Amino acid sequence: MKIAVFSAQPYDRQFLDAANAAEGHDLKYFEAALGLESVALAAGHEAVCIFVNDVANATVLEALQAGGTQLVALRCTGFNNVDLAAAARLGVKVVRVVNYSPNSVAEHAVALLLAINRKTHRAYNRTRESNFSLNGLMGFDLHGKTAAVVGTGKIGRVFARIMLGFGCKVIGHDTFPSAEFEALGARYAAPGEIGANADIVSLHCPLTPETHHIINAETLRRMKRGALLVNTSRGGLVDTEAAIEALKSGQLGGLGLDVYEQEAGLFFRDLSNTIVTDDVLQRLIAFPNVIVTGHQAFFTQEAIGTISETTLRSATEFAKKAPLSNEIKMA
Ligand code: NAD
Repeated sequence: MKIAVFSAQPYDRQFLDAANAAEGHDLKYFEAALGLESVALAAGHEAVCIFVNDVANATVLEALQAGGTQLVALRCTGFNNVDLAAAARLGVKVVRVVNYSPNSVAEHAVALLLAINRKTHRAYNRTRESNFSLNGLMGFDLHGKTAAVVGTGKIGRVFARIMLGFGCKVIGHDTFPSAEFEALGARYAAPGEIGANADIVSLHCPLTPETHHIINAETLRRMKRGALLVNTSRGGLVDTEAAIEALKSGQLGGLGLDVYEQEAGLFFRDLSNTIVTDDVLQRLIAFPNVIVTGHQAFFTQEAIGTISETTLRSATEFAKKAPLSNEIKMA
């Protein structure tokens, strides 16, 4: 099957080519992100393979369908960038990759948390200049603290398990509570209790209209003063300007972000020779108690390998008209 792979980075080619040895598809790689300007590149391809910042809205899907595309294969879990209603109307199938490695994302969330708490990023820079002063580097023991997990799905549960290993009390919130989360030794709590008691809040729910800006001026105000916030889920969960105000006032003690509301067009690119004009991002990066990584939480060998294999296996299922194991259907 002819598959147009958008937002293709060298590592995508490497892992997809390796996985394709078992599947035999005809892969065409495009560095460009899928969008209105680039959709013509997909003409004649039965499938497109896209990533987190590609856009598959109704207009793009109509153009894809007109060009012969019948399958959109997301090589990620989140699907907030695809208009599922439009896809269903057009008869375009949408598949994604679930459960490729919840460990990869949860472990990165912990890495961000440890770094903002113990200021490892600042220590790294200091010691390179023979500055061995400890002033300003004090953190707190995670042991005995309360960590809140918002979204207790696959990734949230791995994060919870790791935090329990540190000796944290773990509380969680989810619209669909799971017995597996409680079986770990964690418990569910109302949003009010999370705000009042959590020393750490880590976001692991998908971006939906309900979760857009779930962290906003009001929820930040209700958080424990000095609490640390980690977002490895989707940028739109956090109202970034409100987070900046909370950082300025000290209400928010630190922020670890792997995702950013306006990351499309910025992340996954080397912009080190250009002037980045996003003032909000620049302001964020300037805080000593903020770490931004460029959507790399998923980026482990295990995860990329599984993503590539699952994506191409889904394409094979589609080509064989077999049931699609990873199809996303309208709720
Ligand atoms: P999952 O579906 O297993 O879990 C998500 C959980 O969020 C579910 O239990 C769901 O009930 C819950 N949820 C939905 N709406 C909610 C709400 N309003 N409030 C609280 N909880 C709510 O998904 P997962 O595999 O754990 O992935 C979680 C998210 O992580 C994905 O949606 C994706 O956006 C993000 N992600 C990021 C990266 C990265 O590299 N940074 C990689 C993979 C996934």
